[in-house]
Amino acid sequence: MVESNWAGNHGYAAETVLAPRTVEQARSAVAAAGTVKALGSRHCFNDIADAPGGVLLDLSALPTPVEIDAEAATVTVSGSARYGDFVGPLHEAGFALANLASLPHITVAGSVATGTHGSGRRQPGLASAVSALELVTADGALRTFSRDADPDVFPGLVVGLGALGVVTRLTLDLVPAFDVRQHVFERLPWTTVYRHFDEIEDAGYSVSLFTDWAGDEADHVWVKSRVEPGAELTEPSGLLGALPADGPRHPVHKAGIPADHCTPQLGLPGPWHERLPHFQLEFTPSVGDELQSEYFVPYGDAVAAIEAMRGLADRLAPVLLVCEIRTVAGDGLWLSPAHGGDRVALHFTWRPHQPEVEALLPLIEQRLAPLGARPHWGKLFHGTPARAYPRMADFRALAEDLDPDGKFRTPYVRRHVFGESGS
Ligand SMILES: Cc1cc2nc3c(=O)[nH]c(=O)nc-3n(C[C@H](O)[C@H](O)[C@H](O)COP(=O)(O)OP(=O)(O)OC[C@H]3O[C@@H](n4cnc5c(N)ncnc54)[C@H](O)[C@@H]3O)c2cc1C
Repeated sequence: MVESNWAGNHGYAAETVLAPRTVEQARSAVAAAGTVKALGSRHCFNDIADAPGGVLLDLSALPTPVEIDAEAATVTVSGSARYGDFVGPLHEAGFALANLASLPHITVAGSVATGTHGSGRRQPGLASAVSALELVTADGALRTFSRDADPDVFPGLVVGLGALGVVTRLTLDLVPAFDVRQHVFERLPWTTVYRHFDEIEDAGYSVSLFTDWAGDEADHVWVKSRVEPGAELTEPSGLLGALPADGPRHPVHKAGIPADHCTPQLGLPGPWHERLPHFQLEFTPSVGDELQSEYFVPYGDAVAAIEAMRGLADRLAPVLLVCEIRTVAGDGLWLSPAHGGDRVALHFTWRPHQPEVEALLPLIEQRLAPLGARPHWGKLFHGTPARAYPRMADFRALAEDLDPDGKFRTPYVRRHVFGESGS
């Protein structure tokens, strides 16, 4: 088949793509399939969403009702909903999600399945907001699970890599709507980052550092701050010596990319959903022609990880567009990259040169291995991360229980969950 992921670097090897219009059709398709996997908005960079020789269920034709329960402070959306489809109505109803990723184009189901995250030292990944989900399991049955009713297995179900079934509904925790303003500060010396990492991360609700690792400074610090009602707005004169940018910036500003596709900066207050993502729904996010990788290390090892990557600056330079350093609060979800403690995430936006990127990944992973780095499940990585997850054996048992015949056990799942080499 010729369909591919968003980046165009993975052509799906599934035999068929089906687009069910109802949950009933999805259930029948799963029950009839030999090998099957759900497909979200296709923003992963590896074969995680593929089902070679089998059936891919493209859920984008499912209806996308948005059910807000104001009393419980939850929203329930369908397995095909993209964040961008419902964040506006949520805000109008007086609610917000606590955090968002850099782009609103991705589905909730696909994002939480891969441990997708935004930034913020006190903000866990997006999967932490899920309080219930509805799952079509391998036999076509429709089952519901919730954080409260199923405390033993729920932490294993949410970051599920698509390996447990097809998610058709998710319920997410809400918080009261809030406003955010974002400022970009330029040229923060690494020596300052090393000495004041906590202070920098505490400078806002969500903080990102951007760098190409060349030189002695981080190029940008993006600080997204909550605007408290009635608070007087003042313009910051700088951040630990880094000065406010004199205009909007794209993360790859150094390569001359304009900031037209980015959410408003320069301290202009606006709703959470129009500031927390870096990129606007109506435009291509990031660069478009790119690949991505990302590694998570314990928060306390931030400086060691930065030093390790600075040591590779010359090797990274030919293929790197930009690197982003973010933080993610720890959680208890079994396959969450932030399982067991706060993490610093080192994200790489690469030029679309896959062989060169793949040649570098073992080197990066070797340098980060002493820190117990975990790769982003949905981006390019080299090794297999199973050993970095203390609850992996429980996840395998859950997958065997829900999918005894291995319908969802695709090559990616066999390699990275079941530890089968050569898959
Ligand atoms: C430009 C760009 C920016 C990005 N920014 C970030 C970021 O800020 N933070 C971050 O962490 N990641 C980021 N990513 C990565 C992205 O968020 C993840 O790859 C995410 O999984 C994409 O969701 P999707 O809907 O495209 O899922 P897909 O790629 O379509 O699928 C991913 C996985 O989810 C499963 N899945 C999808 N839908 C369902 C369902 N209904 N039921 C069961 N399983 C399902 C699939 O089977 C597959 O295993 C970015 C990617 C791009 C291209």
